[in-house]
Amino acid sequence: NHGAMSASDDVLATDLAHVFHSWSAQDKVNPMVIDSAEGSWLTAADGKRYLDFSSQLVFTNIGHGHPKVVEAIANQAAKLCTLAPAHASQAKSGAARRVAEIAPGDLDSVFFTNGGAEATEHAVRMARQFTGRNKILSRYRSYHGATSTAITITGDERRFPNDLGTMGTVHFFGPFLYRSVFDSQTEEQECERALKHLEQTIVMEGPSTIAAVMLESIPGTAGIMVPPAGYLAGVRALCDTYGLVLILDEVMAGFGRAGSWLALDHFDVVPDLMTFAKGVTSGYVPLGGVAISKKIRDFFGERPYPGGLTYSGHPLACAAAVATIDVMREEGIVEQAAALGTDVFGPGLAKIAENHPSVGEVRGIGAFWALDLVSDPQTKAPITPEALAATVGAAKQAGLMPFSSGNRIHVVPACNISPEDARTGLDILDSALTAADDAIG
Ligand code: PLP
Repeated sequence: NHGAMSASDDVLATDLAHVFHSWSAQDKVNPMVIDSAEGSWLTAADGKRYLDFSSQLVFTNIGHGHPKVVEAIANQAAKLCTLAPAHASQAKSGAARRVAEIAPGDLDSVFFTNGGAEATEHAVRMARQFTGRNKILSRYRSYHGATSTAITITGDERRFPNDLGTMGTVHFFGPFLYRSVFDSQTEEQECERALKHLEQTIVMEGPSTIAAVMLESIPGTAGIMVPPAGYLAGVRALCDTYGLVLILDEVMAGFGRAGSWLALDHFDVVPDLMTFAKGVTSGYVPLGGVAISKKIRDFFGERPYPGGLTYSGHPLACAAAVATIDVMREEGIVEQAAALGTDVFGPGLAKIAENHPSVGEVRGIGAFWALDLVSDPQTKAPITPEALAATVGAAKQAGLMPFSSGNRIHVVPACNISPEDARTGLDILDSALTAADDAIG
């Protein structure tokens, strides 16, 4: 009896009947039906409101439903909804110019994609063409997307079922003091040892076989490890010494997330290629891309670039990017993210760590924070999946939508969440973490 069903049941039943879900065993998914969203608040179909501490998959950097961006998308749809990539449009030119302004150094040319994984694919293809070499070096603790090449460059365990071992990718360890594989005691040691390890990897793999080193400026899903001072500059120096392309992935860490326009702005480093997606449109319309240095752009000056996408530079997506960047500039959203980090999340999460033995470490910057949860503070053994699920469940029950990955909860709200809402979310998290403490023996 269709009439007796609530609208929510209908949506859920139809979803379970017909939607195939990412990364999931299909019989075990249990999606929440969301009806609407505004700013930092989501409204579920049953009317319950949730404070969004996830920015979904860390992309609604300006919050949900910003009226200026929504209007810009509607206006673009009415005027010129779509266009083949060979043509020029005001939206595409405007988005490319703004990305070039934000990107460092001479990364003044932009190839647009539909998202982050395609940005990885094309950055890697450009590096391979440019060097005439195949191998890509990337961090074990990384995520670069789920297409065939991107998932093998990805270091984390999502690679395993997709890894045919034939894609010319090699992984290395980056700096991560809390779980140091180098037995370091200080950030300086960790930085120096991680750079030595990378250099040895380059030498032993053979520099003449390597196209590029690719890494997230600040690893995101892998745990938000802000690199120690000097690490990225050290990687840049190694790439220069051995003639390798440096690709920095700003898909998650960029566009305000780290309290700066790009995460790389915190470090004295200019890559040869930079990938972006997510926050560039706050996810309102899918968009990603590669910002390209002059020497690589000029390499394709006479010879054609062997790659393209039907929707490269799609007007709707580019109009969303223009409006998002303009709103971020007008409203000082990057500055807001920086202030959230220093005034609210830094001190607030430090206090939470003091209150809860299950919080092994708090780390982050801007609106980009991770709580590394443990079942034993001494050995740093990760929290059990059951205890993490109980913690996340308690947070949701209390009206907070957190982001969890591995053994961690990430605090990654909109960059313009109000300090009051941010504190409300921290209070809920503080209470929910008693569920994690309970699991400590
Ligand atoms: N790179 C990073 C750092 C990411 O966090 C992600 C997605 O989470 C990607 C690339 C892939 O982006 P997409 O899911 O848009 O393909």
